[in-house]
Amino acid sequence: MRDRVRVYTSQLPIIGNKELKQLVEVLEDGVYNYFYLGGVGKLTIACNEGTFTCHLNGRYFPLSLDKTKLTFGERWWYLCPACDRRVGILYAIGESLACRCCHGLHYRSQSEDGEERMRRKIWKKRVALWGVEYPEIFNLTIFVSDYPKPPGVSWQRYRTALNELITLEGKYWDLQVTFLPTQQI
Ligand SMILES: [Zn+2]
Repeated sequence: MRDRVRVYTSQLPIIGNKELKQLVEVLEDGVYNYFYLGGVGKLTIACNEGTFTCHLNGRYFPLSLDKTKLTFGERWWYLCPACDRRVGILYAIGESLACRCCHGLHYRSQSEDGEERMRRKIWKKRVALWGVEYPEIFNLTIFVSDYPKPPGVSWQRYRTALNELITLEGKYWDLQVTFLPTQQI
């Protein structure tokens, strides 16, 4: 029987939140910049007048970002160069930079369950602070730091809980595989 080859996301070079933040800065400043990605070759991202061009193992292709409006502020995304959906992480394989689904990748933990658990944990902590009735409290595309301090909760408790939530929600988005539609929501 043949061994099944399974490529795990943890084995691949990625661009994620950190790089996205840098790209947004580059975009907003309108300056030229680039990044390198080690591992399966070298990825360069150049910005020229608001357009990103990637160079990965000999192939050139455009990369676009998109943003969704939150109650307070906004969230930026990569648009997967292969399927054009909003994603938080892109993976490099060979000369292709694409989202997890386009590459047919698997998480080592096979963590559909893990994601669900994490989502419930976040909801529980949010509800503990703001209550179940608070508008959009279950909407994880709204960052917890965009909610105001809940009344009747001490600053100390609020700050501690907020820090925990920010960390958790960051991890959640790093794992996120459910795509948002590309239309404005
Ligand atoms: Zn894709």
